[in-house]
Order: sequence, then structure tokens, then C-alpha cells
Amino acid sequence: MVGSSFTMVFPEEDGGVVLSRHQKFLDVGGSLGGEWRVRRHDGEFIYVWSESVALSVEGASLNRLVYVLDITERKRSEELIWKQAHYDAVTGLPNRNLFRILLEEGRSRAELEGHRLALFLIDLDHFKEVNDILGHSAGDMLLGSIAARIKNSLGDNAAIARLGGDEFALIINEPDYPEWVDGFAQRVLDELARPFHLDGEVVFVSASVGVAIYPDDSANVDDLFKSADQAMYEAKRAGRNCFSYFTPALQCAALNRLHLANELRSALTNDEFEVYYQPIIDLRDGSLKKAEALLRWNHPERGVVGPYEFISIAESTGLIVKIGNWVANEVIDKIIFWRERFLCDLQISINVSPIQFRVSNASDFDWVRKIEDAGLDGRSLLVEITEGLLLNADPLVKKNLLFLRESGIEVAIDDFGTGYSSLAYLRKFDIDYLKIDRSFVEDLDGVGFDLCEAIVAMAHRLGLKVVAEGIETTKQRDVLASIGCDYGQGYLFSRPVQFDSFTAMLSKRSGCA
Ligand code: C2E
Ligand code: MG
Ligand code: MG
Repeated sequence: MVGSSFTMVFPEEDGGVVLSRHQKFLDVGGSLGGEWRVRRHDGEFIYVWSESVALSVEGASLNRLVYVLDITERKRSEELIWKQAHYDAVTGLPNRNLFRILLEEGRSRAELEGHRLALFLIDLDHFKEVNDILGHSAGDMLLGSIAARIKNSLGDNAAIARLGGDEFALIINEPDYPEWVDGFAQRVLDELARPFHLDGEVVFVSASVGVAIYPDDSANVDDLFKSADQAMYEAKRAGRNCFSYFTPALQCAALNRLHLANELRSALTNDEFEVYYQPIIDLRDGSLKKAEALLRWNHPERGVVGPYEFISIAESTGLIVKIGNWVANEVIDKIIFWRERFLCDLQISINVSPIQFRVSNASDFDWVRKIEDAGLDGRSLLVEITEGLLLNADPLVKKNLLFLRESGIEVAIDDFGTGYSSLAYLRKFDIDYLKIDRSFVEDLDGVGFDLCEAIVAMAHRLGLKVVAEGIETTKQRDVLASIGCDYGQGYLFSRPVQFDSFTAMLSKRSGCA
């Protein structure tokens, strides 16, 4: 700095502040301490720490000792640490920490200025599957492109962040509520709906968006987050690729879930579960060959509660393992009874949650031993799993599946065609049946027909049998039979029924009395 002028050392933009402090420096008692950004003689900017002491006054001149320390390195690493703590490395967007700060700032401003603020939570649908299929680096690239697209569609009044995984968040200040918010949410979905091109692959993405508004929905940031999260959950339930607002009804549903979770714990000990059986029919001759076990909860106040209302809660609380084992044991007892009574082959399928495969060891499937002890053919039981389980199959899942197969138990893929259907795993995991999802059967007049035909042809080629779910009309049955589908299940034949009714059906079955 020696020999440099004031304006050379200090950058213009900092000049004003520096000058006023410099003024003080000229006073006898004043000191010029603190951090400064200064220009080195070679023109480069560095950060310095300076401290000064007045030594003596000699007439008009003031002698000072000033020492200056170059702290540029420290400043840079501080900046880096701050960046790492507040920004997401993959997308370059603010992370959850910074987003909370921004949201709190936005909220206080909204409160002060008396306007609204909208919080969007955006959760990508099935992103994990993209990651699993294309690999993590492609997944990261996709996240980067998604971030860029959403960012470009934003105006000045919005901020975007990546909260982690496949979750993004937006703050919209002063939304022209509510039409504007609708339009905005739709715009985000539309932006994401256009295909992404990654490394020669074309990838389609959709998202579920939850929206909560300050101060209408919640008075503070924490509750606003919770509200948006519930709304997002609702969008997922509504079939994904859509947005949903937080409403008091949603809050009610959330409380309801909490309540149910508590009650579920006692349902097993209070013997409130009951297995219903839905016949599965051989489409060639209409005979009853199999049935699917479907769980019902006889709730003391609500009456019969269906699995859609409680299975996901049981999964998220881990109770599903106990419940699943209970169902299996119960079903095996009934198979033993029917086999002895009617002396015929009968196969009952049970739905086994992916959670059960991921957390259990083969030794936890004690019901497999029960089949062996009773001298039953393993094929009297079939386990229905979902595509997702195979896609993310870790060694434990594979081991558990193999354990079932070695006991002769057959395996079906449930709701086939609704997830990321990969043909490779059908071979790799030795699957016996595909169950065509009800949505395709419903749409047999449209594109569903081609899909069903293709699934049947492919399955047969690979040596698998096909069950069509949700057959409600004779027309659907006939069409499916004509394309060679092996089995059918649906309200046309029978709804799921209780043990006694199903026993009555079996006793009427030809050749089985
Ligand atoms: P899923 O395994 O795909 O079972 C078929 C569902 O479709 C059943 O619903 C059945 O009642 C319904 N369904 C059958 N035929 C028709 C039809 O013709 N039309 C219509 N609209 N629906 C039909 P449910 O019993 O409500 O079960 C829902 C889901 O809950 C099951 O889907 C299954 O994934 C799960 N679930 C049921 N029981 C258990 C269980 O014991 N353990 C586990 N982990 N999941 C279960
Ligand atoms: Mg099923
Ligand atoms: Mg199904």
C-alpha cells in the first residue's frame, strides 16, 4: 500500500464507508481497525485486517503505527464453508438451511407489508427409479436440468431451493392469490412435463406439488412447511403429477392418520383384523382355482376399514411386519382347513409389503416353516410383490425372495405396468405370475387393449402366467380370454368375501365337494 493513493487502495464501491472511517482515523484518538477489501499494487483485490495505534503528535503531523494482515485465504475458506453450508452442490441452488432463512425473511416482510406469501413443495414422482436405472450421475444431471427449468420459469418475486433428495421448494412473494398461484403451479408441472435429454436418453419426469399460503394456512414458518407437506402428500395420493392446496380438510385427514396409527398398534392384540378372500377364475373354463387374501380392519367405531386407509400407515410405522406375518399365518391355517375339507388344490395369494422384505431376515418368515410342517405343497401359497421391490432389490431382498422360492412358494408381480416395468427382472427373479393392473382392464376399449395383449404375449413367451385384475363386465372377461389371459379376478366374479362365504363357494365348486 506504500505510495498508493486512497482511491487506488480502496475499491470505489467501498469508498464511502472507508472514507468516513478514515476521517476518524485522522483524529488523535481514532483508530482504523477492522476488515477491509483493498487493492494490491498489482491491481488484485485482497482482504486485510488492520489495527492502528496513535504514537505521538508532532505539530500538525500525527505518527501512527498501522499493521496490516493479509486474511484473503481465511476469507475465501470462510466463504466456501458458508457456501457449502447454504447451497446444494448438485444444483447450485440454496439448500434447506438457506431456504429456511429466506422463508423466514419473506414471512416477516409479508407480515410487515401486509401481503401474502405462497410456499410450494415440489416432490418428483418416481425419481428414485430414474436414479436406479440410469445411475446417480445421470440422476444428478437431471436434478440440475430440473432446477434450471424451474428457475427460468420464475419471476423476480420468487426463490427456489433444493431441500434434499428429489424435493424442491419455492417461495412466491405477493402472489395475486388465488388464480395466480394456480397458474404458477400448473406452469411448474408443464415445465417438468417436457422431456429431458440426458446423455442420449430421453427422460420423462412428473412432480407432485403442495401449496400452502401465509398467513391463511399457517402463522409461522414451521407450520407453513407442515401444511405444504400435507398438501404435497395429498397431491401424491391424488395420483401424482398434480398440485394440491393445504386445506383444513387436509389437516383433518392428517390428524386422522395420526389417530389411526395409534389405534393400529392395538388392533392386532384386540384381534380386529380379518382376512377376506377374492376368487381368481380360470378364464378358459370359468372354474375357481385361486383366491387373493385381502386384509380388512374391523374397527370398533368406524366399522370395516379397507387396506388403502391403513397399509401405508402400517408401513410408515413399521407395524406392517407384524401385520403381514399375522396375515400369512392366518391364511396358512385356512389353507390347511380347506385342503383337508375339500381335498383339492387351491392356491391363495397374500400381499407382502416391500418393507417386510427389506427389514426381515429369512428366519422372521416363520410361516414358511409352518407350510413345511403341515406337509403342504409350497405352491398352495403365492406371494404378491410390487415392481418397485425388484428394482431396488438389495442383497437382503434377494435372499428373502430366494428363501420363499426354495420353499416352493410362487411369486406374482402385483399391479403390473403401473411402475417402472423392467423386463430384465422378470427373468432374473424367477417370477411366476403377472397381475395386470386394474387401470388397463378398465381401459380395454382404448389403449388398454394393446397393452394387455402385449403383456400377455410377453409373459407367455417368458413362461409366466397372467392374472387380470378388476374385471367388472362380461365384455372385459371375454376380451381378456380372447387374447389368452390365463386368470381373472374382479367384481364380475365376486367381491372379496369372508371366510365362511368363500368356504361355501369352494364347496359348490365342481369336482371339489
Ligand atoms: P391389490 O393387491 O391390487 O388388490 C386388489 C384390489 O382391487 C383389492 O382392493 C380388491 O378389493 C380390488 N378389486 C378387486 N376386484 C375389483 C373390481 O372388479 N373393481 C374394483 N374397482 N376393485 C376391485 P382392497 O382389498 O381395497 O386392497 C387394496 C390394496 O391393499 C391391495 O391391492 C393390496 O396392495 C393392499 N393389501 C390388501 N391386503 C393386504 C395385506 O394383507 N398386506 C399388504 N401388505 N397389503 C395388502
Ligand atoms: Mg394384490
Ligand atoms: Mg393389484
